[in-house]
Parts: sequence; structure tokens; C-alpha cells
Amino acid sequence: MEQALEQASRIIAAAKYTVALVGAGISVESGIPPFRGPGGLWTKLGEPAMDGYQKFIADPAAWWTERLSGQDELSEFLKTLDDAKPNAAHYALAEMEQLGLLHHVITQNIDNLHQEAGGREITEIHGNRLKLRCVACGARFPLREFALEEIPPRCHECHGVLKTDTVLFGEPIPRDALWSCDYHTRRCDCMLLIGTSATVYPAAEFPIIAARGGARLVEVNPLETPLSELCQAVLRGPAAEVLPKLVERLREGAGPAGREEKP
Ligand SMILES: [Zn+2]
Repeated sequence: MEQALEQASRIIAAAKYTVALVGAGISVESGIPPFRGPGGLWTKLGEPAMDGYQKFIADPAAWWTERLSGQDELSEFLKTLDDAKPNAAHYALAEMEQLGLLHHVITQNIDNLHQEAGGREITEIHGNRLKLRCVACGARFPLREFALEEIPPRCHECHGVLKTDTVLFGEPIPRDALWSCDYHTRRCDCMLLIGTSATVYPAAEFPIIAARGGARLVEVNPLETPLSELCQAVLRGPAAEVLPKLVERLREGAGPAGREEKP
């Protein structure tokens, strides 16, 4: 592990533009279950119907009524998200950003824990649970601005129907998020793969595109993944244990002698 930490911190310190691709593994230690595997949400509830978005589009009012009733099968999961707090891994990434050693986070999580930990440069592939998004124009609004007395809620910009920003099953990934992922993936010369097996598209493509462009890959995951063999450094362990150790090393080396200064 010491050797892998040394290798990883050297790669990150030498990089000019580092992006973290983050999956559900980072939030497990915040009490949020992953979707698949032992203890996973779908393992417990059964695989969800793939037509969530089609149902929403067919009848937004009915969808909102069911969601607000607290009776749908996800309500327990949504309550867990409400109670979740960032863990040491989220804080470690936010500190890397402050140190100038992490330039962007691409997350598959909707839990808002990166932001709560102080992270700023974030693209959320699957949206954010504390926002609403207009189906017509794509504008996003904080959920708390809406009393949700009128159902469905309407866009302040264009009066289109609002849904949760969280991407539903069967819903395309919002274009602005995809664009941002593509931009940062092509720009990076180092990509951290944190708590993700990256088997689900589009996230599965990003490490491959980055590696093809010459980026070095660092994996943080307790388990081997299909990407492990592409990585120049592999840190085997939960993100909440590994990332604080990594940041500790980076902090020591973050002086002018330790890495190239940005222009
Ligand atoms: Zn709109």
C-alpha cells in the first residue's frame, strides 16, 4: 500500500489537469447503499422498471403525486439520502481541489455530498437530488424554492414541466452534463477512478478515452474492476480510508519543490 500511495501521489503531483471519476463506492461510508451487489438497493427491491422517464412524461402530475406521497418504493432510500453526511473521502477530494491538485469531479452520485464537503468543480452525470430540472429548456432550480403545492411544478423561465434533476430510468443523460464530462475527460492528463467499476455507460467510456489521450489512471477501490489493468497505480481499499492518506502525502509535497507550479 505504501508503494502504491507513493506512486499515486507522484502521478498526481506531476499532472497538470486531474479529474476524478466517482461512483457509488465513495458514499457507502456515508450510509448510502450502492445500487447493485450485496446490500444494494436493487438487490433488495428488485431491478427497477426501466420506464420511469416514460411514465413521468406520460403523466407528470401522477408521477409527482406518487413521489410526494412518500409511498413509492424509493422513499426509504430518499430518507437515507436526507440523513447522509459527507465522509472522509469527500473531504479529501475537496482538499485536493483547494490544493490545486484536483481540477474537476465527474460524479455518478446524486447525493450532493461533494458540495457539502466543500467541493466546487463538479459535473453530476445523474443529476442532483436537491434540484429540479425543466424538461423543455433544461434550466435547473433548487428544490427548496418550490412549495410543490401545484403539481407538476413549472419552470420559471419557460413554464415547462419540472422533474427532479435526478436522471430517471429510461431518461437520456442531460446534454450539458455529457458535454462537460467529454470536455474534462479529453483535457485531463490524470484520472482518478474512485469507488466505481465504471461498467455503466457513459461513465465506462471516460477512463478509456482519457487513457487513449495519454492520461494516467489511478484507481481507488476495495475490489478489482475491469479498469484495474489500465491503471498506473491501484489503491486497494475504501475511499474513506485511502484518500485521506493520499492527501496527506500530497499536502507534504504540495510546496513549490514538490510539483510544477501553475503558470
Ligand atoms: Zn424551462
